[in-house]
Amino acid sequence: MTSRNQQLFEQSIKHIPGGVNSPVRAFKSVGGNPLFFKRGKGAYVWDADDKAYIDYVGSWGPLILGHAHPKVINAVKESAERGLSFGAPTETELEMADLLCELVPSMEQVRLVSSGTEATMSAIRLARGFTGRSKIIKFEGCYHGHADSLLVKAGSGALTFGQPSSAGIPPEVAAHTLVLDYNNTEQLADTFKQIGNEIAAVIIEPVAGNMNLVAPKLEFLKSLRELCTQHGTVLIFDEVMTGFRVGPQCAQGLYGIKPDLTTLGKIIGGGMPVGAFGGRRDIMQCIAPVGPVYQAGTLSGNPVAVAAGLETLRLVQAPGFYDQLAASTLTLIEGLKLAAKASGVVFSAQAIGGMFGLYFSETPPQSFDEVMKCDKDKFNAFFHAMLDEGVYFAPSAFEAGFVSAAHGAEEINKTIESAKKAFSLLK
Ligand code: PMP
Repeated sequence: MTSRNQQLFEQSIKHIPGGVNSPVRAFKSVGGNPLFFKRGKGAYVWDADDKAYIDYVGSWGPLILGHAHPKVINAVKESAERGLSFGAPTETELEMADLLCELVPSMEQVRLVSSGTEATMSAIRLARGFTGRSKIIKFEGCYHGHADSLLVKAGSGALTFGQPSSAGIPPEVAAHTLVLDYNNTEQLADTFKQIGNEIAAVIIEPVAGNMNLVAPKLEFLKSLRELCTQHGTVLIFDEVMTGFRVGPQCAQGLYGIKPDLTTLGKIIGGGMPVGAFGGRRDIMQCIAPVGPVYQAGTLSGNPVAVAAGLETLRLVQAPGFYDQLAASTLTLIEGLKLAAKASGVVFSAQAIGGMFGLYFSETPPQSFDEVMKCDKDKFNAFFHAMLDEGVYFAPSAFEAGFVSAAHGAEEINKTIESAKKAFSLLK
């Protein structure tokens, strides 16, 4: 019998390219067809065939309170009753801006947008407008949304002028993007020595979560901050994923390093489309209507979306919230490590706040090259075995995982029990 998931997928590919509205949903990396979800509650999602899964994707990060948190849903309902959109300022946006500037250590002013991509794209334009320079630096394996200048990967060699990693990006655009190695302080210092005064911005995921999870070396982040300051380069922390995920003050609070600009998304929308970029007042004052750098959005600061984000941000301020989240995440990865060991599977894992990385390698990788050396086939087999067991990890070996406040001891224990079976099949 054909499953409802299968049926929906077959119908979807007729009018939706690949059957999905964002590529990583397609299960291309792990093989098989994507699941269609029809409902979520707390730590669980249900697919079109009514099978339940413990969810470690959480809509790719936003759902730090779990699915359909009653207070968030209520905030959305109440806001929707008052009207869906005005295209004019609202008090909710002011509350959100005030809260973000209070909570994010480096944020003096902020503008709301509707996605992470918009946030990073706008931050880059702003940095270029502020400095009058064109070149930017990103790091291999970091993802900053799909704006042309950021969809660039490294070629070989230390200092590589970027090659576009998607068709449709003019080489002249990509040529302004330099791609360096994450955590490689020496290469970064060399690059700044050569062309530091030409670099408008460095954009980085302060904890990399788009090449699985790669932790930053503190020395690397410190040097990055110093080099940017010395050369008048705008340091952008892309905290779309790490913002309010790794701790209450984002990664910048965790590592004690203040960027010039920060981009946010995911959690600050609580599952609705919200992004933001903000930081130093003198830089933010360059944005229209006060300054010459243009940036706009019909639905920017949408009241219903912002209501969901604001309620989420208020709830994560509860005392002990992040301690509990970090403890749950740690219990999960320690349990998984033990389960792998018992089956003799080469495996490691690490957690930072409420995000985690699972690696089929002896130790957690520290760079894109090391991530690439992990056993992807083993991950894919593990992913499918866990899926059978009713545990939904990200369908790719190159994504971080997310725990929510709704993941209690029961869900974590069930996950570890399932993993014991899954690892035993991998021998
Ligand atoms: N930056 C980072 C660090 C991200 O993880 C993502 C999305 N995963 C983006 C930017 C892009 O955000 P969006 O998908 O909302 O455009």
